[in-house]
Amino acid sequence: MKEATGKWASRFEDCKLCEWKCGVNRLEAETGVCGAGMPEIAYCNLAEVLQSYSVTMLSCNFKCIYCNAYRLSQYPDSGWFYRGYVDPGELATEALRRIDSVEGRAMHVDKISFTGGEPAIHLPYIAAVIEETKKKIPGLGVGFATNGFMSKKTLQEIIELCSYVTFEIKAFNDDTHRAITGAPVEPVLRNAEYLIRKGKEKIRAFRTIVIPGINDTEIVEIAEFLVSIDPSVPLRIIPFRPNYILYYHPGPTKKRMDEIGDAVLKTGLEDVWWRGYYPVNASKRAIDISKNQKKLTSVTHRGARLGFAYSKLAGCITENRNCGECTMKLSCAVGLKEPWLLDD
Ligand code: SF4
Ligand code: SF4
Repeated sequence: MKEATGKWASRFEDCKLCEWKCGVNRLEAETGVCGAGMPEIAYCNLAEVLQSYSVTMLSCNFKCIYCNAYRLSQYPDSGWFYRGYVDPGELATEALRRIDSVEGRAMHVDKISFTGGEPAIHLPYIAAVIEETKKKIPGLGVGFATNGFMSKKTLQEIIELCSYVTFEIKAFNDDTHRAITGAPVEPVLRNAEYLIRKGKEKIRAFRTIVIPGINDTEIVEIAEFLVSIDPSVPLRIIPFRPNYILYYHPGPTKKRMDEIGDAVLKTGLEDVWWRGYYPVNASKRAIDISKNQKKLTSVTHRGARLGFAYSKLAGCITENRNCGECTMKLSCAVGLKEPWLLDD
C-alpha cells in the first residue's frame, strides 16, 4: 500500500472515529474492530440512478449477517484484493474527470458519493477528497451512506461536509441489532435523532432492510421512533435478499412487505416508500414471453426459452442469443433487472 501523507492522516493515530472508540494507531498497522488500516478504495463508478460519482470504500465497523457487500465490508479478512489506497488529490482529480466525461454529463452527475463498507470509519480521508474536489467545483454535491455507528464528533463533521445522508437503521431493539450487526443499537438511535434535529435538510432517507423472522416486527417500532422526533422524515423499507451468513434465509414476500408498509403508514410517518419482495416463483412476464417464443423461434427446450425471456426483459434484442454475431455486441443493453421491475 502507498503511504498516506497529509494532516488528515494523523487523525488515524488514535482512532475514535466510530462508537467502538478503539484508540488504535491505524497508521502503524494497529487495527480495531473494523480491521481497517489506511483508507482503501474498493472501486469507483458513475451511478446513473443517484446521478453520482460513487466511491465504494473498504471495511466496516459492523459484521452484518446479511451484508450484500461482505467481501468488501469484511476486508481485509475476506481475502479479496481491491484497488487500495489512493491519494485524496488523485481521487479528486479522477472524480472530476469522470463527472465531466461524456458519460457523466449524459447521466447529469452532480455529486460525489461515499459508500462501503462504512465510509464514516474513513472520514478524515473523505474530508480531504471533498476539499480537493471543491477547489474546482465549489457547488459539487456530496452523498454519504452510513450505518449510523459513528461518534458524535464524526456525525457532526458528516453533517457539515455532506449534502445528502442515507442512514440505515437495522433494528430497533438492542438484542436484535446486536444479532444482526454485532453492535449495540443505542449509538445508532442517538445519531439518528441528532441527524434529524441538527441536519434534517441533509437527510436523503432513513432506510431499513426487512429480514423475515428477525427484524420484520421491529420496522413499525423504527417508524414510531422517527415519528416521535419528526413525522416528516423519509423512511425507505427495502426487502432483504439472501446473502452472506443469511444466504439460505428467505426474503420477504410481497404480501409481507405490503403488510409492513401499511402498518408503518399507520404510525403517522408521512414519507414512507417500500417496493420489492423476494420472488418465490419465476417472473410472470418471463413465463409469458417464453410461451410466445415457442411459436416464434426454433428453440426447443422449455428452460432455454425461459432463459431467453429473462435476457429479453433485461434488454437483449435477439430471439436466439449469439453474442458473437449480435449487431449490438459492442454496446449491449442487457443489465440486471430486479424481479419486481420485470413484473411491473
Ligand atoms: S473506525 Fe471505529 S472500529 Fe475502526 S479503529 Fe476506529 S474506532 Fe475502531
Ligand atoms: S453496515 Fe453495511 S457494509 Fe457494514 S457489514 Fe453491515 S451491511 Fe455490510
